[in-house]
Order: sequence, then C-alpha cells, then structure tokens
Amino acid sequence: MAKVLGIIGGGQLGMMLAEAAKNERMVQEISDVIVLDPTSPRCPASHAGAKQIVADFKDRDAIVSLADRADIITYEIESGDSDVLESVRQYAEINPSPQTLRVIQDKFLQKSFLSDNGIRVPRFMMVHDVKDVVDGTRRFGSRGLLKARKGGYDGRGNFKIDSLEDVQKAYDYFNGELTMLEEFVPFEMEVSVIASRNTKGQIKTYPLVENVHQNNILRMSIVPARIKDEGVAKKAQEIAINVMSVLKGSGTFGIEMFVTRDGDVLVNEIAPRVHNSGHHTLQSCKTSQFEQHLRAILGLELGDTDLLYNTVMYNILGSSQFSGEYKISDALGDNATMEKNGVFLKMYGKRISKPLRKLGHVNLVGLHGESVKTLLERLEGLKAMVAVVPL
Ligand code: ADP
Repeated sequence: MAKVLGIIGGGQLGMMLAEAAKNERMVQEISDVIVLDPTSPRCPASHAGAKQIVADFKDRDAIVSLADRADIITYEIESGDSDVLESVRQYAEINPSPQTLRVIQDKFLQKSFLSDNGIRVPRFMMVHDVKDVVDGTRRFGSRGLLKARKGGYDGRGNFKIDSLEDVQKAYDYFNGELTMLEEFVPFEMEVSVIASRNTKGQIKTYPLVENVHQNNILRMSIVPARIKDEGVAKKAQEIAINVMSVLKGSGTFGIEMFVTRDGDVLVNEIAPRVHNSGHHTLQSCKTSQFEQHLRAILGLELGDTDLLYNTVMYNILGSSQFSGEYKISDALGDNATMEKNGVFLKMYGKRISKPLRKLGHVNLVGLHGESVKTLLERLEGLKAMVAVVPL
C-alpha cells in the first residue's frame, strides 16, 4: 500500500523530494507528503503540493504529530533532534536512522567514526581549552580550522587559523561552544559523491562531481569532475561505498571530499540527506537523487545512476547588495526554448532574497554531447541573466 511520507524541513530539498514523490514511478508508492517547517505562510515544499505542519524543526509535539500522520519520516536538514526522533520510532519508520544522524551531526564524532573505520580524513583533534588549540595548531604546521562540532553549515561554524597569532581570536569566536581542530588541507579540488543505500543494504553511487565554492557556499558543480587521473576518481568512489557500508544508514547522502596535489582523497564531511551537489541528477541521470532517496528509504531497488550528459549546475544566490523581493532577468526566454538548449532553470519559490541565500539553480546540460569546457563557456554568458536584482 502507498505510504504517507513525512519530511522534517520543507525548503528546496523537501520541495524536490515532494516533486519526485509525484513522478510516475513513485506515485504508486507514496500517497501523500507532509513537511514540518516553520516558514509561514508557505515553505517551498508546500508549493510542490506537500501538506505543511508549521512548527520549528525541533518542536517535539509537532514531530510527534508528524510521526502520527506519516508512515515513514525522513529529513532534508541534518539538525533534527535525534533524541526526539528516536522517541517517535514506535509511530513511524525513520530513515536515515536517528543513530546515523547522531554520529553525523557532531563533526568530531563523525570524523572519529570515519577514521575508526579506516576511512581517511584530515588530521583532527578534540578541543577542551585554548591550550589544545595552540598545541594542535603547532602540530598541524601553524594552520588549521577551528570548527563548531554541531550546527555549522555553509562554513558558518568554521574559523580559519593562518598562524599561531589567530588562535586566541578563533577560540574566543566560539564563546565556549564545543569545537574541534582540524589541519588545513591545501586541496587541489573539492569533490563529492552522491551515494545511496536502501534499507536492504543495496548501495549505488553517482559519478564524481567537482565542486567550486565561493565564500564557503557551493557556487557550481561540474560533472564529471575534471580529474585527469582515473585512479583518483576510482578511489573517491570506493571511499563513498565504504562510507555507506560502515554508516549503515539508508537514504541518499552527500559525501564531500578533498583531492590533494599528490592524489590523496580525504573525506571532509557527510551530509545525511540529498545534497546541493546532486542537483545535476535532475536532468543528467535517469534517476534523480531525490527519487533515489525515496527508493532507498522505502526499500525499493535503486535506480540507474549512469551519467547521460555532462552537466554544470550553477546556484542562483541572493545578491549581497540587498534583501527583499527580487527577480531574475526575463531575457532567458520561455522554459521550452531554454530546455531545448539544455538550460534547466529551477527556482525554489522563496519570496525574499537575502545575501547569499539559495534561491534557485540552473543546470546547463550537454544534451547534444557538449564537453564540460563548452558548458563552462556557455555558463559565462548565462550568469548575468540569472543574477538576482530587486523587484
Ligand atoms: P560546513 O559544514 O559549514 O559546510 P565544512 O567543514 O564543509 O563546513 O567547510 C566548508 C568549506 O571550508 C569546505 O567546503 C572547504 O572549502 C573549507 N574547508 C573545510 N575544512 C577544511 C580543511 N580541513 N582544509 C581546507 N579547507 C577546508
């Protein structure tokens, strides 16, 4: 019988999950989608037909009510309260499991778990006091990152240390919050693998993605990643499969990695949910990461992950010049013409722009066999057209 799906978080990821639930392959499996999100009057997922419980992500009563109405609960944010989720497991199945979430939510526990399981990560250490940061920074060659153990996103929980002189400032920045110290990795490229594991243990990965960040926010993803050494790409895939095997959570996860100059691949972090660097799959693969997540948590056979087209995904971010109602240029033309040319625009239905807020993305898809180089050249012309300006 078709199931009612509950999602904690109704932002763009929840929206695209809700859309995937309606495609012809999933509509028999999922009868309804309910999201829990504080955005009032309507969050992005509710624009895609999801019902919305308007409440904070950590509101216990709201989570209980979601569990009561849904057969299966998943999330699009990693900050859900794992204790509360654990306590509602008798009412609804929860995937990925609250235990997996608990490990991932704490960067120190996550890195310890990975390294205990033989997966290579940057050197890191627990921090109790400022002396630990001084000692660690020395040990890591006078550079490092002090990271909040919990709750950081888009780099907001990181403080970069460039010399021992920065240590006190870095320590004070966190004002007693739990932190960990990590060595600075002078990486050559940031990459990610979107990987899925279904409740029966089947694992599949998508091709390696190259990620370009700006101000710690993902600006662009390029697939396939421009890695010359096939061995490195293979290593990243093997790491992703290892991560999914040891974590045991079911769902689709984003596994972010650094590739170093000498071809080492280190895991930076895991997102226990669909991931911005997997948005290209909406057009570039037969099964999108959103459908794959639903298949994984429902215990269905995972879909095909082969790359059909080279693709560049470009995030449409709020301008740093203003906050308020906005538009993007209407020079783009109508959707049908754009899509024929491989330009797939997806806006998230957010009314207000704020500096660097993720408002949408555009996938530039090589429908006619275009190379990544050609797509990147075309993107240059497109950037001005998707720039956010006041309404
Ligand atoms: P968040 O959880 O906020 O996304 P991350 O820990 O992934 O934060 O870091 C954000 C960005 O900071 C990364 O994408 C990378 O560019 C940079 N970064 C993080 N850790 C390191 C590191 N150990 N060495 C070098 N750069 C890093």
